[in-house]
Amino acid sequence: MKAPTVTVHGAGRTVTGSCFEVAFGRGRILVDCGLFQGTRTVEALNREPFGFDAKAIDAVLLTHAHLDHSGLLPRLVGEGFRGPIWCTRATRDLLHIMLPDAARIQEQEAERRNRRADRADEPPIEPLYTLADAERAIDQARDVELETQFEPAPGFQARLWNAGHILGSASVELVAGGSRMLFSGDLGPEQKAFHLDPEGPHGVDHLLCESTYGDRDREAATIEQRRAFLETEVKAALARGGNLVIPVFALERTQELLLDLARLINSGRLHAQVFIDSPLASRATEIFRRHQRELEDMGDGEIFHHPSFHFTESVEQSMRLNSMSGAIILSASGMCEAGRIRHHLRYNLPRSDSTILFVGFQAQGTLGRTILDGAGRVRMSGRDVAVRAQIRRIDSYSAHADRSELIAWVEARKPVRGSLFLTHGEEQALEALKRDLESGLPSILIPEIGERYELPAGAPAKRLATGRVELREALSRDWQNDYADMVVNLKRELRQIRSDRQRAEALARMRDVIDQYADHRKKRRRAG
Ligand SMILES: [Zn+2]
Repeated sequence: MKAPTVTVHGAGRTVTGSCFEVAFGRGRILVDCGLFQGTRTVEALNREPFGFDAKAIDAVLLTHAHLDHSGLLPRLVGEGFRGPIWCTRATRDLLHIMLPDAARIQEQEAERRNRRADRADEPPIEPLYTLADAERAIDQARDVELETQFEPAPGFQARLWNAGHILGSASVELVAGGSRMLFSGDLGPEQKAFHLDPEGPHGVDHLLCESTYGDRDREAATIEQRRAFLETEVKAALARGGNLVIPVFALERTQELLLDLARLINSGRLHAQVFIDSPLASRATEIFRRHQRELEDMGDGEIFHHPSFHFTESVEQSMRLNSMSGAIILSASGMCEAGRIRHHLRYNLPRSDSTILFVGFQAQGTLGRTILDGAGRVRMSGRDVAVRAQIRRIDSYSAHADRSELIAWVEARKPVRGSLFLTHGEEQALEALKRDLESGLPSILIPEIGERYELPAGAPAKRLATGRVELREALSRDWQNDYADMVVNLKRELRQIRSDRQRAEALARMRDVIDQYADHRKKRRRAG
């Protein structure tokens, strides 16, 4: 019997765009079909042709509802995929809100770009996919119980395992041609609210493991310690007299914070009114309510009906929050790139009595990162906004396993008879995790997008096709990232120089470097 093969279509030497194609006999299965997210170069990959024929795919196995794992499903359906999308029931419920929201953003983005005057003579940009594609994808979703065997396509056996990352998240076990494969999806940390620690089978032939935080160990904080950090921050913010604005991810982080706030208020440690101002976060919270029996630490479900919690719906209700003081406002998006949070930032950033508290990851180049890095002014919808509010952060909330938790998860899957593939990570994280795991495993691979491997039972993987070398540069840090980093920190660095004279000198020396390049260009032009 021939062995199955895997082709890496995303999350190879990069974090996002998760998509693996497993082929065996005539069957073809995708594990995830995610959106590429990040720099413009990375996001451009979303518009490239798929590395496979969408119509030839028999089924999709979906690890979880985050868009970097699910966000290209509507496009897959738009290109003719008609098979089932297997996932947990909670993931299926979450797709009902995540995919239409993503489609609306795609439609708005296309519309915005087509309106731009400088594009007047160019052909209109089509949205990546439409609301209709998203709805069709939702119709194709089928739910299965965790740890229950099923046949996603002829010749394949599959099983989903709790991944402890977000509501509904799972790792995917696949057996074909006698070879057992396990795809981690995203793995959650220990000490995560709501979810048990990740699980999985013992003994696999090939393991594909995420490495997002493969080079980082978090300072261990228990749920109780995290609540104490939050209590300190909230009390300090309220004592200042203004509002406490917390940018949140609508899914999971919002509900974690609500749980912690509810417990602090119930035990008399805090007195506050909490406004949840994000329609997506409100809908995600509703889905948590539907699944509260599967979740840990829910108490009597107070996060859904706490007298201090107010879910705003209409834009008018949202606007009314502008005139408040002493309120806690949770709003999305989590990195401040879109959504109602921008509106709250516009009103609260200039207030020296208000506080902005970051509780989630802020990617390079986002507004959240700019504020967190200490910008004195930010540009929002064509306006300069002064930053006078207190900027605070708590880093102990995480939905991802850190370095030692990833190692422990891999250990628990042993024996790994064939190869361990490290996926979903940036170069540094991948290499660090590889070094840490090297001694105990026969073969560790860091696959590139486009590579295809044979996955035989009981033996290391064999590479059958090389990757897309031209992507290597696109996926590595580009100069625009370095530039954004430099600009963000420049003012602060300059301020730290002792005198005005030395500051002027530093600027003049930077000017010199730029001038040297200009001179060089001029000389070449004269010579050529
Ligand atoms: Zn995720």
